[in-house]
Amino acid sequence: MGFLNESAWTGKIYSDGWVAASGGDAPVVEPATGREIGRSGVADRSDLERAAERAAAAQADWASTAFDQRAAILRRAGELINEHAGELHEWIMPETGGTPPKAAFETHVAAGECIAAAELTSRPLGQVLPTPQPQLSIARRLPVGVVGVISPFNFPLILSSRSVAPALALGNAVLLKPDPRTAVTGGILLARVFEEAGLPPGLLHVLPGGADIGQALIEDRHVRLISFTGSTAAGRQVGEAAARNFKRVLLEMGGNNALVVFDDADLELAASAGAYGSFLHQGQICMTTGRHVVHERLKDDYVELLAKKADAMPVGNPLTEQVALGPVIDEGQRDKIHRLVTDSLDAGATLAAGGRFEGLFYRPTVLDNVSRQTPAYTDEIFGPVAPVVSFSSDDEAIALASDTAYGLSLGIITRDVMKGVDLAGRIPAGIVHINDQTVADEPIVPFGGVRTSGNGTRLGGDANIEAFTETQWLTIRGDVPAYPF
Ligand code: NAD
Repeated sequence: MGFLNESAWTGKIYSDGWVAASGGDAPVVEPATGREIGRSGVADRSDLERAAERAAAAQADWASTAFDQRAAILRRAGELINEHAGELHEWIMPETGGTPPKAAFETHVAAGECIAAAELTSRPLGQVLPTPQPQLSIARRLPVGVVGVISPFNFPLILSSRSVAPALALGNAVLLKPDPRTAVTGGILLARVFEEAGLPPGLLHVLPGGADIGQALIEDRHVRLISFTGSTAAGRQVGEAAARNFKRVLLEMGGNNALVVFDDADLELAASAGAYGSFLHQGQICMTTGRHVVHERLKDDYVELLAKKADAMPVGNPLTEQVALGPVIDEGQRDKIHRLVTDSLDAGATLAAGGRFEGLFYRPTVLDNVSRQTPAYTDEIFGPVAPVVSFSSDDEAIALASDTAYGLSLGIITRDVMKGVDLAGRIPAGIVHINDQTVADEPIVPFGGVRTSGNGTRLGGDANIEAFTETQWLTIRGDVPAYPF
């Protein structure tokens, strides 16, 4: 019996221990083979209501638990992820279709999220305010209470833990709803980690289910805050439901991120960075490079090099072959990718590489002769597709890179670093990397987007205090003042 103790949780949800769900159970499917590799529980509304009740009851004691005890549990959770990374990878790879480096990145960052959250417990949580009255006037941060976390399928362990860990660290209870396609990586693994780390009962509930459970989570009277990571379309529905129920909501949504390559760039390094930005984890990353905006003097050579790299990349089952790309998550996602590629070709783009698939294995694809109307350029693809457009002036580069509804991540490659800094202030983006591609994540940075990529939310480091607490104005006097009434 390994650390994950599969027999304890097969077909169950985590809600005060491993219990059978009223919603029944569902297969966990390996996209590479279509094989059932396990079963997870599926929560329904009654499971959710019970969990929320229990979480609310457990939260007060947790909030008053000494900060160093909370820190020790969070730190232990991070250590357990590192200690048992190999076993966790055995689920992450088949369930998400990830390669070994992708799985290693997931456990590394998820462990980092827990360790960073442990450190958060000892940060100052307020200010003493000037006041004209004979009193102590304090602004202090208190836990929100019960936090609902909704996470997606692509990097489920990171994207669940980056909300679950700081929310718990700051004294909240958490109801976690992972994507049902990745219930194990997005939920069950974390439940096992926190169970083993000694988190008191009732504080973390893992409730796999679809959009209906997500909506029920927002509506539940005990849940005060929702942290959602997913598509902009679903985020809009989550935001609307949260507003109707007067719930605060943290939205981390889609992106269509530009990599701007200037003509002073080293072509080989730029194309290598571009390939990584577009093809890592089959392009299923919110920060994926979705648009390559390349100076006209380099563009043709850049396309040729990127296409050569794409053609050389092995695609297949990461568990049985050494591959650069695994499968995409399901047929719906594959069909959406292929539709955007064929619509782009119909609209005049040309194929420099890829454009083909076998089963769920989509070849890394490079599109040339792309315009601002090309569907693969305008839409978030969430697949391994690299559309390339050219520009001739700085102003045109800025206009092209800004020409999107999104604003998550931006990469700028130039030897003129100060020009990069200037552009970083002029192209709307929550994250900018000068002389790097668009995909990066570290637990202590303020992660988030502008425009339709987010609602001003930043997750990570001290931004988590703002995200997962409420502010209370507290005054304290020695005596009740005399009033004229
Ligand atoms: P999705 O929006 O379809 O699903 C995300 C989660 O929301 C899932 O758990 C899903 O069950 C739930 N959900 C869906 N509709 C809902 C509704 N109406 N009410 C409540 N919950 C609902 O996203 P996806 O397609 O699985 O994931 C890919 C998307 O996520 C991409 O757009 C990507 O850019 C985005 N993403 C963003 C970030 C970020 O940090 N900004 C990170 C990863 C992924």
